[in-house]
Amino acid sequence: MKKLLIITTGGTIAGIDHGSGIVPALSGDKLIPDIGGVGISILDLYSIDSTDVTPMHWQKLYSAVTENVRDFDGIVILHGTDTMAYTGAVLAFTLDTDKPVILTGSMLPSDAEGSDAQTNIEFAMHTAASGNYKGVYLAFAGRVIGGADIVKVSSTDKDAFRSYAGFVPDKRYAFPEHGGRLPAVVRLTPFSDGPDISAPAENKAGIVIETYGAGGLPDNGITAVISGLARTMPVIVTSPCMGGTDLGKYEVGRRALAASAIDAGKRSTECAAVELWLQINSQPFENDNK
Ligand code: ASP
Repeated sequence: MKKLLIITTGGTIAGIDHGSGIVPALSGDKLIPDIGGVGISILDLYSIDSTDVTPMHWQKLYSAVTENVRDFDGIVILHGTDTMAYTGAVLAFTLDTDKPVILTGSMLPSDAEGSDAQTNIEFAMHTAASGNYKGVYLAFAGRVIGGADIVKVSSTDKDAFRSYAGFVPDKRYAFPEHGGRLPAVVRLTPFSDGPDISAPAENKAGIVIETYGAGGLPDNGITAVISGLARTMPVIVTSPCMGGTDLGKYEVGRRALAASAIDAGKRSTECAAVELWLQINSQPFENDNK
């Protein structure tokens, strides 16, 4: 008989609404069904709306997975959907395991009419027990998406996630012992000026700048600011659009490359920010794109 460990961390999937908005409150024993032929253990690790997630929560989750993974055939993690992409990327870049580690969540609390909570939990458990997956994935609304490639595309539709660009990490990072060196993440808009980009980077060890489409920088002071920042820290250019960036495609993208910015390629903003956080906490910065 296959043995699964279910780790709960909160989110809508554990949520109830007593009139002041949905809050995570249900423990795993109230949520996990018997799917037959699978032995279940439950670890209620913490109970937060995933908006409250911090690197400290990732540390706890990473430790819980690494300490238990040897004793089970797979792990299912119940997690809030809002920051699923960040947690998926953290685990995908740091866990080196042949076992399935399957994230899931839901858009509606388990007691809401038409809730997707039970379906998603069962889907995640079957995915983990199937023997077809190794490593970190999201199982949600019938889709199975790589852990570093998760993007939430709807705050209302039950089919809320997509694969961003098919990104699969080809290297692993040690989980940071301290993780205190943080990246800045900023969004480029037609209203942005140089200080909008440089101010958030102060006291940070790297910056992700989410631009547009295939990626690029405008013909104004921002590019000079980026060029200056790139001398002291990694500057990663990402896109809000699924499919990711290709900085060689347009002149505006080549402008970013000329400013020594790094092309995120198939990495979503969340994925690039997580990898940057892991990089800046594990090795000194060297920009080889100069
Ligand atoms: N705000 C919730 C969370 O991320 C949303 C959800 O779980 O669907 O925890």
